[in-house]
Amino acid sequence: MGSASLDARRRAVDLDALESGSFDLLVIGGGITGAGVARDAAMRGLKVALVEARDWASGTSSRSSKMIHGGLRYLAQGDLALVKEAASERQVLRRIAPHLARLTPFVITLPNLATLAKMRAGLWTFEKLGEVPKNEVHEIWDLKEIARREPLIKTAGLHAALAYPEFLTDDARLTLANVRSAAEQGAAVASHLEITRILTEGGKAVGGLARSTLAGEDRVVTVRARLIVNAAGPWVDAVRALEDPGATPRLTLTKGVHMVLPRAVLPVNNTVILRAADKRGTFAVPHGPFTYLGTTDTFYPQADDWPRITRADLDYLVASAKGLLDAPDLKPEDAVAVWSGVRPLVGQAGKGASEISRKDEVWTGPAGVIAIAGGKLSAYRAMAERIVDQAVEVLGAKAAPCRTTEEPLPGAGGAEAASDDRLWRLYGAEAEGVRTAGGDAAAEATQAVQQEGALTLEDWWVRRTARAWFGGPEGLEAAADRMGELLGWSAERRVAELDHCRALDRMNHTALEAAA
Ligand SMILES: Cc1cc2nc3c(=O)[nH]c(=O)nc-3n(C[C@H](O)[C@H](O)[C@H](O)COP(=O)(O)OP(=O)(O)OC[C@H]3O[C@@H](n4cnc5c(N)ncnc54)[C@H](O)[C@@H]3O)c2cc1C
Repeated sequence: MGSASLDARRRAVDLDALESGSFDLLVIGGGITGAGVARDAAMRGLKVALVEARDWASGTSSRSSKMIHGGLRYLAQGDLALVKEAASERQVLRRIAPHLARLTPFVITLPNLATLAKMRAGLWTFEKLGEVPKNEVHEIWDLKEIARREPLIKTAGLHAALAYPEFLTDDARLTLANVRSAAEQGAAVASHLEITRILTEGGKAVGGLARSTLAGEDRVVTVRARLIVNAAGPWVDAVRALEDPGATPRLTLTKGVHMVLPRAVLPVNNTVILRAADKRGTFAVPHGPFTYLGTTDTFYPQADDWPRITRADLDYLVASAKGLLDAPDLKPEDAVAVWSGVRPLVGQAGKGASEISRKDEVWTGPAGVIAIAGGKLSAYRAMAERIVDQAVEVLGAKAAPCRTTEEPLPGAGGAEAASDDRLWRLYGAEAEGVRTAGGDAAAEATQAVQQEGALTLEDWWVRRTARAWFGGPEGLEAAADRMGELLGWSAERRVAELDHCRALDRMNHTALEAAA
């Protein structure tokens, strides 16, 4: 059994462990999919290696809308099995990581009695299927109640609103919690290590060649494993091509953009469902002193670390907010940050971006590599369970039963705090330690290096603390000082780390200026 601390100072030892180990399973990609698979497999007693090209959750798993959907939307599509899975997964997450599944009411407005009746019937079914506790069932708000509870909503032309509970998470930290748990269960894990070749023997995949992507680290590691899972998200096709250069691409990527505003600019109390000009649902989400607006859904040509944000993206979000909310002066320049990501969807010819199914699919390549694409953050655990069942069968391994519905994730336990307590939201039970260490950027940086495997300043700024979107550049210097001390950075390296984060921050603002 390992430890739940991912200590970045142990880097060389971690790479040696990957090189010298002989694994049952090599998981490529440390987003929520790969992290969930690695955790489950390690808990069942398999020898697991997990390798991530950049940082944990640096792909799509830090760019989502951060919603743990209960599955209401699948009801409209008549997919009851999916509703039941989504609803029960939500309860599981709440049990194993309460700080990463925070209850926040969603509010949807309704124009007339007929839509109210239809939505209520749906919600009753949903609440029954999802075993929603009695004190959390939906409420109906009449116009007076809307004006009292969510005064920003324009009530002209409305009949009523429904408020029903959903959950919000921190996608990057949920991923990280799974990686830490996988390591605790004995998995060998390394970030900033990219698989550049799939090794085969007799036509069968037997491992991967991995190259460090960390500045100044010139290291190549061979990882040997009996089975490989390709969980590379938007890069799934690129990894499939390492196994079979002639593989036909299967993914279609669509881009989703979010913008972050000071809460005072758009002071919503609940997550309010909006409607864009093309009738797609968008939303305004309260998040501490901020509100974020999301999201767009447009085809995007290739997997990018930082998908480009255009003026049209921000105009679309602003217009959807103005449609329902009383915010006549709202404009793109009000945003303090923007983020974008690409959805790794399974291509369906002839469908529009938002019509493509979000269901996951699994393919086995010619050398036996199992590739996973599609899926959602919300039901990652159930998806991982299915993949590991398949892996156990392929390996013919004797494995313990799946326990991921019961075992808490790191940060679970301890008293629940108010959801506006930023440190609790980030660290859960570990918040007290960070607070005692000063509760500031330097304390967060110590936690990030010693417990959370942060190897670069960007790892800390974007994914460990979400300061890049909800905070800004303040604290970068102090964090760089602390990380530099702990990781032995030279003066040049410290400057390079700071320059890189400032360039990202500028990129955020360039998108806003372009939209202004
Ligand atoms: C705008 C947007 C909003 C969304 N909102 C929600 C939401 O509210 N709720 C929800 O449930 N879902 C949501 N989703 C979907 C959800 O975010 C994704 O389904 C999920 O994050 C995909 O995770 P993943 O692990 O498959 O991919 P990723 O997170 O992209 O992980 C793949 C990883 O593989 C790594 N990798 C790639 N190539 C290699 C290689 N050669 N070697 C090693 N590693 C490699 C990458 O660096 C990356 O980190 C949203 C998605 C988007 C884009």
